[in-house]
Amino acid sequence: MTGQSCDVTLRSTVEVIPSYKAGKRPVPLDGVTAYKVSSNENPYPPLPAVREVIATAGGDVNRYPDPANTELVAAIATYHGVDPDNVAVGVGAVALCYQLALITSEPGTEVIFAWRSFEAYPIVTQVAGAAAVQVPLTSDGRHDLDAMAAAVNSATRLIFVCSPNNPTGSIVSKAEFDDFMSKVPSNVLVVLDEAYAEFDRSDDAAHGIETFREYPNLVVLRTFSKAYGLAGLRVGFAVGHPKVIEALGKVALPFGVNVIASAAAVASLEDDVELIERVDQLVAERARVTGELTALGVQVAALGSSAESQANFIWLPLGERSVEVAEALEAQGLTVRTFAGEGLRITIGEVEANDRLIELAEFI
Ligand SMILES: *Cc1c(COP(=O)(O)O)cnc(C)c1O
Repeated sequence: MTGQSCDVTLRSTVEVIPSYKAGKRPVPLDGVTAYKVSSNENPYPPLPAVREVIATAGGDVNRYPDPANTELVAAIATYHGVDPDNVAVGVGAVALCYQLALITSEPGTEVIFAWRSFEAYPIVTQVAGAAAVQVPLTSDGRHDLDAMAAAVNSATRLIFVCSPNNPTGSIVSKAEFDDFMSKVPSNVLVVLDEAYAEFDRSDDAAHGIETFREYPNLVVLRTFSKAYGLAGLRVGFAVGHPKVIEALGKVALPFGVNVIASAAAVASLEDDVELIERVDQLVAERARVTGELTALGVQVAALGSSAESQANFIWLPLGERSVEVAEALEAQGLTVRTFAGEGLRITIGEVEANDRLIELAEFI
């Protein structure tokens, strides 16, 4: 079909949506193992028990999934101590971001989020035809919740708060969050995106699943992609008020969470001991990498500071040097996520990948 032009009229909002740029694939280097530490993936393959469930569920794919994902919703509800009508599952938490924009926003309305934060937020805002209101992070990469609350007006429908924040890794404290919620009108839906919650070792972070009952306008997002290592299967979930959960179901892609994904997610919740150990190892690696890089003079939010990364990645605020440093790391087999003019986000991967980063500190 090359060469032929296409006259299809698209929705005006679609024209302005940037095309998706995939995380870079590692470049093969002679004699050097390349590591892709650009997508915040879990470096560990699925546990044998989960693989077995995946293989078994493969035998059922001639059937549609249960449209209500009853078993998975029940397993999540039990695991987190909430009611099934507080839980919606989605094709990754990112699909739930789309659904949240679709149930709240439309042309003439506004969606507020910090910037820089998760790249899906501006896109889902545009898909819904709403206007994005981006509130700059503080100079140390934290949410400026006072400024975000001040940005609320009568057009505001949705606010994304990302904690730990992708890509800076900082958390929003419970005190900050409660103060913020006290300022946001109760008709505005607030999303606390906790995609990296399992990696958080701070003692003061807001925990959405513990507090959503206090705030009917709060919905929490979690995912099986990061700590649970099921990124390729696409399962995320939302926890919130039944009114919001029911609305999310209305705009969901029918049968989106598939038979294999659902079975693997249930199995991961049933036996999470080894998964939790793996998360603990990644957290220990995060501290090791942060400590070593700091000792070598690399600028990274210090351990114990309020800007410390509590996710499975670290953030190097390299500003104008970002692209040049990323290219140097890539030439040495380490593919990182570059935000030109801002910084680099580097996933905590297998020990060998983390060692490589430390070895390459001289290039940073
Ligand atoms: C990775 C990520 C998600 C969701 O990932 P899914 O794979 O779609 O579940 C959501 N929010 C943030 C901030 C993320 O980094």
